[in-house]
Amino acid sequence: MKKNNFKTNCDKCVKKVSSPKKLKKVNEGYLCNKCRKENRKDHREFLKRDILKIPKRSDLLKGWAEKRKAKEKEQERLRKIYGDAKPQIKSSKKDKLKINILGLYLTKDERLFLYKKLVQGENPLSSEEANKRIKNLTEQNKRLIEELRNKVKTQGEFKKKFDEAFAKLLMEMENE
Ligand SMILES: [Zn+2]
Repeated sequence: MKKNNFKTNCDKCVKKVSSPKKLKKVNEGYLCNKCRKENRKDHREFLKRDILKIPKRSDLLKGWAEKRKAKEKEQERLRKIYGDAKPQIKSSKKDKLKINILGLYLTKDERLFLYKKLVQGENPLSSEEANKRIKNLTEQNKRLIEELRNKVKTQGEFKKKFDEAFAKLLMEMENE
């Protein structure tokens, strides 16, 4: 890394830092801590979406919502033809909740991604320790889903509460 003895403004956000030592040289120039952190975050997102092809949770849920809508439409169509005598396509409340919960468990790719992050981060963990943390997270996630399932009444409420709690779990795992 080239030593910086002169610059005190970040090349990205142009903000002034207290000392040239606070800027580090990367491809884009001399960047402050905050911008480099931001870059790493973007890079992780890129790895997840474009390299590992992990779909966003919100996209998955959207896909399911569309499928459900199509099913309801089909049901409506059948009802018009056969009247109420026609048995409904299975769509109990319990089924719906089960379908939407499926995508909330960590996939193999997501676990792999977390693993790499833990063993390669700034404070790298041993492989055993990383696996233990991911196993803990999986257990906590399972408990969280069960807990919420008994507490919430709607899918919307469930999703909101789950996203909040899961983000918290992830943060705790990284800061442990
Ligand atoms: Zn900056």
